[in-house]
Amino acid sequence: MKITSMEIFEIVVPLKDKYTLSKVIGSKSSTECVLVKIDTDEGIYGIGEADPHVPFTEESMESITYCILNYLSPLVIGQDPENIEGINSLMDQGVKLNLMAKGAINMACYDILGKKRNIPIYEMFGGKIRDFIPLAWSVGNSPPEQTVKDVQKAHDEGFKTIMIKTGHFAPHTDIERIRLVRNTYPNIKIIVDVNQGWDVETSIEVGRKIAPLDIYFLEQPVPYWDIEGLAKIKKSIPIPISVDESLLTLHDARRIIREGAADIFSIKVSKNGGISRAQKLIKIAAENEIKCWMNSMLEEGITQAASLHLGLSTPNLLDGGHAYFSPLRLAADISTYSENIQDLKIYPPTRPGLGIDLKTETINRFLRNKYNFSATNSAYR
Ligand SMILES: [Mg+2]
Repeated sequence: MKITSMEIFEIVVPLKDKYTLSKVIGSKSSTECVLVKIDTDEGIYGIGEADPHVPFTEESMESITYCILNYLSPLVIGQDPENIEGINSLMDQGVKLNLMAKGAINMACYDILGKKRNIPIYEMFGGKIRDFIPLAWSVGNSPPEQTVKDVQKAHDEGFKTIMIKTGHFAPHTDIERIRLVRNTYPNIKIIVDVNQGWDVETSIEVGRKIAPLDIYFLEQPVPYWDIEGLAKIKKSIPIPISVDESLLTLHDARRIIREGAADIFSIKVSKNGGISRAQKLIKIAAENEIKCWMNSMLEEGITQAASLHLGLSTPNLLDGGHAYFSPLRLAADISTYSENIQDLKIYPPTRPGLGIDLKTETINRFLRNKYNFSATNSAYR
């Protein structure tokens, strides 16, 4: 089998409600994704997605398109999509990092491979060890009373694991927000995600004050580069520490483990560069007794489905809800992924590959740009 052509769709979808992350990351009212469709000479096609979020990610919608169009597609077109590790190493030889651009191609190759073998992707990772995964929800930064209202809405819908975004207001306000939520809802799992909004001293001070409030885990309190700081926080407070922005590559994972800087890896398939790379992070986590939280960017159903296949087959998963809710936050899902959500649980797709289809009309509604290219047209160099 050979890859004959690729299509790129730049898609911008509004969020249902504005979402405020930390003061470092800012607010979002729409999300951008780059959808990649890869065609083969056997008529099987695969789909993949990249989910940039500037300034969370250094890649943007435009840089991902540019990278695929000019650098990755010439390496990949003509290759056998079943040779996934071969394609990974070709891409790594040709282009440094650019993990989201490579990740979209990697997802599409897995989709093709699954369809060719007539198996869901999770079968390639040893099969599913759970029948469903409960969904978490997350609420953005807002004043204390509004935070409680947002949590109430999610709680009333039935969510039992709720992430509270922090790091936007003063630390004492964040403590008040978390305390109010805990006092109102004694039984939910509370995740506190700071999105790099604090320094080490603030993290330790706030961490000690919120530790008695039974915090499920604390994610990325300090800037992504401060692994020593994370290790210091982890030693100083009795709350499990999760790494998100600090964890991109396998090298990051090794350093985090060496420094003793985390209890939990926050896995995002697009951020981490596709299914192959995310799976390697999950494996090294398991070898080092680190649990995984299947997290997401503000992403569409293709990346969510890729993440689902990994979550279903991952032994070292946390026992609470996971971030398989992202399309519910958006004005529309451009794929059929959300049809697998029932009663706030995500169930495995039954069809081969990623097991989902694209919704052409929805894609056209939110399409910003589209590029078509093959071995013979001008976009290919
Ligand atoms: Mg996070």
